[in-house]
Amino acid sequence: MRTPVIAGNWKMHKTVEEAVDFVETIQRSELPGEVETVLCAPFLALPALAEKAKGSKIGIGAQNVHWEEQGAYTGEVSVPMLKAAGVQYVIIGHSERRTYFAETDETVNRKVKAAIAGGLTPIVCVGEVLEERESGQTKQVVQEQVKKGLNGLSSEEMKKVIIAYEPVWAIGTGKASTAEDAEEVISFIRKTVADLFDQQVANEVRIQYGGSVKPENIGTYIAQPNIDGALVGGASLEPASFLKLVEAA
Ligand code: 13P
Repeated sequence: MRTPVIAGNWKMHKTVEEAVDFVETIQRSELPGEVETVLCAPFLALPALAEKAKGSKIGIGAQNVHWEEQGAYTGEVSVPMLKAAGVQYVIIGHSERRTYFAETDETVNRKVKAAIAGGLTPIVCVGEVLEERESGQTKQVVQEQVKKGLNGLSSEEMKKVIIAYEPVWAIGTGKASTAEDAEEVISFIRKTVADLFDQQVANEVRIQYGGSVKPENIGTYIAQPNIDGALVGGASLEPASFLKLVEAA
C-alpha cells in the first residue's frame, strides 16, 4: 500500500512569521496518521518551520535546490544546507521553474541525484502545456520528462522519488484536470516507471496530481487507484483549507 502525500507548495508566499503562524494553527488539529503531510515553503522560512515541525506529522520541503554541495553559484542553496536546516523534501522541476528560470530535464536530473544522495526526498514535477495537450502529445511529453529527469537512478533510489503530475494548463487557473484524465496520465507514468525500472518500483513509487486541487475536488483524485495524493498551490495557503485537504486524503 502506498501512503498518500499531501504537499502544499506555497510558492513565493509567506514571511517567516506568517509561515510559523500557519504551522502553529494546523498543529492545534489532529492530523490523520495515514497521510504524509508536507509543506514546501520559501527558503527563508525553512529553518523556523523545521524547528516547529520537529517530532510532528508535518514534513518540511524546499521548492528548489542546486546540485552542487557548495561553490560559486550566487543565489543558490545546496542539499547539505537544506539538510542542516532540518528540511526533508524538495520540489524539483516545477513548471514555473522550467518556464521562468530555464530549468531543463538535464538540470532536473542533476538535482534529483543530488537530493537523493544527500538524503532529501525529491518531488519531481512533470506535465504538459496546453498546446501539447491539445495536439495529443501529453503522454509523449511526460514520458520524456520522466525518462530524462530520472535517468541513471538505481531502483532503490527511484523508490525514494515522489512524482507530481501537474498539467501546466491546470496550475493556478481553476481549470483542474478531471480525475479520470489525471488517472489516465498517472497510470501511464507508472507504466513508464515499470518500463524504465521494474514493476516493483512502479508499484511502490508515489505519484501525485497537481493543478487547481481544492478541498471540494481532492476526493475525486484520491479515489483513483493510481493517484497517491496531491501537490497543492493556492488551496494550501490557508490553514483551514490545507487541513481539509489532508483530512480528505
Ligand atoms: P495550484 O494548486 O494553485 O493550481 O498550483 C498547483 C501547483 O503548481 C503546485 O505545485
